[in-house]
Amino acid sequence: MASLNPAQMEAVRYTRGPLLVLAGAGSGKTTVITEKIAHLVTVEKLPAAKIAAITFTNKAAKEMRERVARRLRGDAGEGLTVTTFHSLGLRFLMIEHAKAGLRRGFSVFDADDSAGLLKELLPKGAKPDAVDAVKHLLSRAKNDGLSPEQALSLAQSPREREAAEIYAEYQQRLNAFNAVDFDDLIRLPVDLLAKDEDLAAAWRERIRYLLVDEYQDTNTAQYRLLQLLAGPRGRFTCVGDDDQSIYAWRGANPENLGQLGKDFPELKVIPLEQNYRCSRRILRAANTLIANNPHLYEKKLWSEHAEGEPIRLWQCQNAEQEAERVAAEISFLKQSRKLEWSDFSVLFRGNFQSRPLEKALQLLRIPYHLSGGTAYLDRGEVKDLLAWLRVLANPDDDAAFLRAIGSPKREVGSTTLAKLAELARHAGMPMSKAAGQIGLIKQLPARAGAGLSEFASIVDRLRSEARDLAPSALCQRALESSGLLAALRAQCKDESGFQRRRANLDELSNWLEGAKGSGLDGLSNQLALLGHADRGEAGEAVRLMSMHAAKGLEFACVFVVGVEEGTLPHEASIDEGRLDEERRLMYVAITRAKQQLVLSYSREQRKYGELLRLTPSRFIDELPADDLLRDGESSERHAEVQQQRTKDRFSAIASLLAND
Ligand code: ATP
Ligand code: MG
Repeated sequence: MASLNPAQMEAVRYTRGPLLVLAGAGSGKTTVITEKIAHLVTVEKLPAAKIAAITFTNKAAKEMRERVARRLRGDAGEGLTVTTFHSLGLRFLMIEHAKAGLRRGFSVFDADDSAGLLKELLPKGAKPDAVDAVKHLLSRAKNDGLSPEQALSLAQSPREREAAEIYAEYQQRLNAFNAVDFDDLIRLPVDLLAKDEDLAAAWRERIRYLLVDEYQDTNTAQYRLLQLLAGPRGRFTCVGDDDQSIYAWRGANPENLGQLGKDFPELKVIPLEQNYRCSRRILRAANTLIANNPHLYEKKLWSEHAEGEPIRLWQCQNAEQEAERVAAEISFLKQSRKLEWSDFSVLFRGNFQSRPLEKALQLLRIPYHLSGGTAYLDRGEVKDLLAWLRVLANPDDDAAFLRAIGSPKREVGSTTLAKLAELARHAGMPMSKAAGQIGLIKQLPARAGAGLSEFASIVDRLRSEARDLAPSALCQRALESSGLLAALRAQCKDESGFQRRRANLDELSNWLEGAKGSGLDGLSNQLALLGHADRGEAGEAVRLMSMHAAKGLEFACVFVVGVEEGTLPHEASIDEGRLDEERRLMYVAITRAKQQLVLSYSREQRKYGELLRLTPSRFIDELPADDLLRDGESSERHAEVQQQRTKDRFSAIASLLAND
């Protein structure tokens, strides 16, 4: 702890009351949290099992857990909770499920499942936009802690009334499926804690000290959870930066920063002013940019580091050429500066922007890791296998049943399934059970009935085998017995395609190896966590990610691509006047870089078959011109020459690789 500066030290040692550390990027906020956990355990003698730290992503949680483990000796860190708000909510519900009206092994619906359910509740032919809009409304209502009844009584327009009714029905269905959605993971615990003083007291005893990272991005429901868990004594430390609030679109409420002082009048606020991450030029660029935003809190941020290299500004022809240039430069910098692949990160505004980058990196055989958590889970084959596992773990999960029954394809059409759903509802049983009831099946067309019976008997067999199998072995067994593996083989044109997808499935089974407990219980607990897990180690690879996902991270070299009007700031944000939030996003992106920052934009973009002219982002004009090195400004780096050189370099490496 000797290396902490005095302000950081004060923040670590202050445990008498509620504390907010409000400070800019790279000033050591996350460091304070890690050090403070160690301090609480070693100096204040608080058992680690009574401490909970909340991070914004699972990956951040994992990193923090590892850092703390290194700081503590032996098993002093045993039982420490480092997790996200959602995982904490899930853990709460696993323990208190009965109070929330849930049965053991309940399912967590992911965004797709929820959208599917909503679609059924909306009038036939509702457009995807309408589904999204309603989903957004429901999510907002849940984040604001409204029950369906409250939403109905507050509804002012026919549209809101309709949405509230759909909310009620949606919630009933979820209940029938013994399932919750992501928003419920916070809303239900808040509900229970708010109305049950004994329960709240028990949880405050369980969690005696709470630490929250990235506090500026909590939404109302998360803030309520924090408040309820911390209790009136306010045994917590929150750290955050209002300039890095980038999740307003998901209900994050930066006003929670101010709210904290109102709800806890004895709140102590400690600023941190030294940035330890960025070179001076990078920090100056970030500070100059963000000064264009209105500020509630005055913050200073300075760095002791050297000036560093100028920020490079690239003008590229289009996204493909930009990607090639990025790939070639990474390859060059890695060599010349003796860096690791994982020292590089390429950041973009929208996930679709990753495609040309992936292609260019693949061509140069540069290992990369595309983060975004769900990308892996969104793969068709993974979703299919997951649906089977979910049916096994929770027979009530009709959404999973509906996916599993169609993978691999069986002669069971949607009309049959609708009929089955009705029969199941009448019989008061889930669809996966109804599928195995001869009496019910008889009322359906013979072929479809046979398909359903076959499905039900495979599920039965797997469930009985499950008792003696570890979850990962069960996963392998399900892959074969379900017919998914055979179907996958038949579907893939070549062996390498098959192997690649097979590897995705193996990754799922590897991940299940971490399950606590065996059999179906172990499986269902582990599955419930899956939606929030970032599986797969990124390892030694270049990191590709959205700017949103980069929050809290740092890299020696950062490339920000697509710095164009319409992309960053995003078109919709320009239209809706949400420029401040876009500027904060740019601020987050810039402050990820330690030594080298490259910003690039394209001159044109092909969209719907048309060639569009692009203009550089207005944010570039807000950066200190003296710290930028534009293409063609340095004597030897003439734009054309530079572009040609990149091209040559890129094709040289690519053809070299193609030959070996
Ligand atoms: P962000 O706002 O981006 O989340 P942060 O405020 O959480 O940033 P950290 O990630 O904790 O900042 O720290 C930034 C970098 O500075 C890290 O590499 C960390 O190890 C380093 N650092 C923090 N405090 C000190 C210190 N007192 N001495 C030296 N290095 C430090
Ligand atoms: Mg941080």
